Amino acid sequence: MIRMNDVTVVYDNGIRAVNKASLRVDEGEFVFLVGASGSGKTTIIKLLTAEVRPTEGKVLVNNYNIGEMKKSRIPYLRRTLGVVYQDFRLIKTKTVYENVAFAMRTIGAKSKAIKQRVPYVLDLVGLADKAKEKPMNLSGGEQQRVAIARALANDPNVLLCDEATSALDPQTTKAILRLLKNLNEKLGITVVIIT
Ligand code: ADP
Ligand code: MG
Repeated sequence: MIRMNDVTVVYDNGIRAVNKASLRVDEGEFVFLVGASGSGKTTIIKLLTAEVRPTEGKVLVNNYNIGEMKKSRIPYLRRTLGVVYQDFRLIKTKTVYENVAFAMRTIGAKSKAIKQRVPYVLDLVGLADKAKEKPMNLSGGEQQRVAIARALANDPNVLLCDEATSALDPQTTKAILRLLKNLNEKLGITVVIIT
């Protein structure tokens, strides 16, 4: 559940990245947020993850009030969100399995839960047979699937994709979008795609 009401973000350098924007995304929706380069899309993702606070207006994400929440609560907000980036942001020295497991370890998941969950999310993205590979041995589309699996690791209810297909060719883009739609339908997860 995402609500933005009349939200403005002014950065320290005076740039107004978001100007009185309102947005409503309900549970289970599959939405695209489209805008030109520099129009404030990434700033909106950063608002939703509380990397940036609103200068004005109200932002609610899974019942967290972004403008007013304490810093110490931010990790809990972030566990409700999975974020996928254009440049994948995988750890090169770790295997596919370890990249996903690492996301669970950082929030203190038990090893039994990790052993159950990692194969499950890798299967969801169609990479069950690549668990032992390093990212450099995968195609761009496969690397992005690993990033999606990692984003799903802690069972978020919203998946935020910031230009997640911008580095991929049209055919691979299509396959990734189909995967995201399948996840939305199969898991009921809310998906926000910024492009
Ligand atoms: P988009 O993702 O749509 O390309 P951004 O949200 O990244 O847009 O940027 C919106 C505007 O805010 C741009 O003019 C950009 O230069 C500016 N901006 C982005 N991040 C910062 C920052 N940390 N400090 C100052 N200005 C920023
Ligand atoms: Mg951006």
